[in-house]
Amino acid sequence: MALAEERLGLAQLLLPWYRDHGRHELPWRQTRDDYALWLAEVLLQQTQVRTALPYYGRFLSAFPSWQDLASAPLDAVLAQWSGLGYYARARNAHRAAQMVVQEHGGRFPPTMAAAMALPGVGRSTAAAVLASAYGQDQAILDANARRVLFRAAGLIGEPRSSTNDRKLWRIAEAETPAGAAHDYNQAIQDLGAVLCRAARPDCPNCPLQSRCRAAALPKRRELPREGDRSARPRRYATLLLARDDGGRVLLQRRPERGIWGGLWSLPSLDDEQILVDSSLRAQVLERYAAAVGLVLHEQSLGPVQRHTFSHFSLEYAVLHASLRVQAVADKGSPLLCWDLAAALQLGLPSPIRRLLEQLD
Ligand code: SF4
Repeated sequence: MALAEERLGLAQLLLPWYRDHGRHELPWRQTRDDYALWLAEVLLQQTQVRTALPYYGRFLSAFPSWQDLASAPLDAVLAQWSGLGYYARARNAHRAAQMVVQEHGGRFPPTMAAAMALPGVGRSTAAAVLASAYGQDQAILDANARRVLFRAAGLIGEPRSSTNDRKLWRIAEAETPAGAAHDYNQAIQDLGAVLCRAARPDCPNCPLQSRCRAAALPKRRELPREGDRSARPRRYATLLLARDDGGRVLLQRRPERGIWGGLWSLPSLDDEQILVDSSLRAQVLERYAAAVGLVLHEQSLGPVQRHTFSHFSLEYAVLHASLRVQAVADKGSPLLCWDLAAALQLGLPSPIRRLLEQLD
């Protein structure tokens, strides 16, 4: 039998460790409420615990139930999500809450198939909620569990290849103990976050050391490799900060797909050259103004700044301009002038929110 297929018997080692060293203080560990647990799982997708924590509290206060989230305007949901990134999650969460209310009587659906039909709910998220909220024996395979099992089973290669994915799910299901999936799932998540970290795992203090195939192999225990973050491609943008005589600021709703999807942002003049070429900048600004029917006058160009996304970094500068216009007040328009106070209530990308907060 291949090493990876052997039963490793991890639960009996993990659960005592979890009792003594688990992160029991996390607020989503204090509840078995299906809505609160689902919300935590969604917030934690691609996000570290310390980043998600303040959002969890604020989000629960703003939308304490499925019904509250389902009936909220999308802008209010995006505003609470502002700064957390991966905004498709917020739109999916809003739609999922509406489905739960309309189709499932205001409860997280109790079967894997129905749970996975909700937007933004994959197999691991569905399993985590079903195990914790309803006590079902469901195995998870989030990023932390995936890394622990990959190493413990001594796998090699790309962890998300279909072959390894199948193996990992098989191992996850075999290792998840009947009647204790909730605790085991929390335990393996904590082990991955606290000891079996992506870089420099703390094998000497790990309860799985005796069963771990990678523990004795320094090269193996650094696997799977994380993507090389320094190799992110760069993109460029000039963001137009245009204000009218009353101090209102021109904002544009981003398309749902792509970066900052669905959020309100400064209009972007996407052209690398205009960051350095002022005559080209004037032409681009003029073209843009004509296209959207505004009168714009450049005032100054701010310094180049960088914002890092998961797959690329954005280098951008803010082009300050005065705006003369009576129009762009149609509430249905994706291009709209906003009073500053009202703008700050919208779902905004974090660099844009910081910028607007500094304006008078
Ligand atoms: S022994 Fe090391 S590599 Fe293996 S699970 Fe523990 S921390 Fe991870």
